[in-house]
Amino acid sequence: MTAAPAPNGLEPTQQDGSVQPSGANVAFASGGEFLRATKRDVEEYLARRGTRLRGSLLLYSKAPISFGLIAVSWGVLVFAGPGLALALVCLAGLVLGAILTAFCVQHDANHGSYFRDRRLNHLLGWTSDSVLGFSSYAWRVKHNIAHHTYTNVDGYDDDATQVPLIRLMPSQRPKPWYRFQQYYIWPMYTLMSLRWQTVGDIAAFARGKIGESTLRVPRGWNLAGLIGGKAIFVGWAIAIPLLVYPWWAVLAAYVGISMVTSLIMAVTFQLAHCVEEASFASPDEVRETRPLWAVHEVETTVDFCPRNPVLTWALGGLNFQIEHHLFPRVAHTHYPRIAQIVRRNCLEHGVRYSSQPSLAAALRSHFLHLRAMGRLGLPPEFEMG
Ligand SMILES: [Zn+2]
Repeated sequence: MTAAPAPNGLEPTQQDGSVQPSGANVAFASGGEFLRATKRDVEEYLARRGTRLRGSLLLYSKAPISFGLIAVSWGVLVFAGPGLALALVCLAGLVLGAILTAFCVQHDANHGSYFRDRRLNHLLGWTSDSVLGFSSYAWRVKHNIAHHTYTNVDGYDDDATQVPLIRLMPSQRPKPWYRFQQYYIWPMYTLMSLRWQTVGDIAAFARGKIGESTLRVPRGWNLAGLIGGKAIFVGWAIAIPLLVYPWWAVLAAYVGISMVTSLIMAVTFQLAHCVEEASFASPDEVRETRPLWAVHEVETTVDFCPRNPVLTWALGGLNFQIEHHLFPRVAHTHYPRIAQIVRRNCLEHGVRYSSQPSLAAALRSHFLHLRAMGRLGLPPEFEMG
C-alpha cells in the first residue's frame, strides 16, 4: 500500500527526487465531497479578476523586507561599530528578519507557492540553508512529506514524534518524566534551531529517513546547495563577525539569536497541531479507518488569531494552518479569505473546524494538552491530579 496521492497537490514523487513513496505503509482515502466542494469554491475565488496578482504581490513584498532587515542589521553590527543600544536593536532586527525569512519566504518557496517554476522555488527556498542554517533539502522531506502528508500520525509526523523526550499524543507510551513536560518543553524549543544548524541535518541523512519518509543523501545540485549553504551561513553568521568582535561576543549573539528564533518558530508550529482541540492517530488507526485525507488534515489542525492582521502578516499565514494544509501551494496571503470558504464547507459537511480566538487561548491549550499527555496512563492520583 502506498501513500495516498495527496489531494493537496503534493505528490511525494514530485518533491525533489529525495523521497521514495513506497516506503510508507499508511494511506488515507483521497477525494471526498468536502474537499471537492471546498476546492471548487477556492478556485472560484482565486479566478476573480486580479485576485491572484494581488496575493502574489503581497507575498513577493515580504522577501525584500525579510532579507533587507537582516542585511541592514548585520551590516550595521559588522561595519558601523554601534554602541550597545543600537547593537541590541540590530540583534532584534536579525531575529525578526530570520523569523520572517522562515515563515514568509522559505516555507512558501519550499512548498512551491512563490513561483510556477520548481527550480526558482528551490532557489528561494535555499535561503533556509544560507540565511537560517538548516537544509532546505531535508526540510522538504521533514515538513512537506512527513508533516503535511501524515499530520499528527504517530511515528510518521516527525513534528509530533519526539519520544522519549516529549509525549505529544495518546498512542505514545507514558513515562514518568512526561509529567513535567509542560514546563521543560520551553527550553527544549529554544534548542531546535541549534540542533538543525549543527547535527540535525547530518543525523537525518545518516538515518536515511525522517519519520517514516525516506531521505536520500543529496547528490549533484542538491549536494552543492547543502554544502554551499552551510558555508555561506557559517561565513556571515560566525566567521566574518569574528574578524570584528571577540569570540565570546559572537558566540553569545549567535546562540542567543538562534534560541529566540527557535522558540518562536517551534511554538508557532506546535500551536496549530499539539493542542487540546486537535486529533491524533496511530498508524494502526489510520490503516483500520482509512480516513479521508482532507478531513484528517482539518481535524488535526487548529487556526489561531484569525482576526489579528499583524500576526497574520508576520507568521506567513501559519495561524491559518487548516487552510495551509489543504492548499499549501496557494500563496498564504489568500488564507484569511479562504478560511471563510473552508469554515463554511466544514459546517455543511460535518467536519470539525477549530480556531482559537487569541494567542493566550492557543498557548493555554498547548500547555493543557502537554499536561494531559504527560499524565495520561499514569496511576489515577497523577492522571487526575
Ligand atoms: Zn507547511
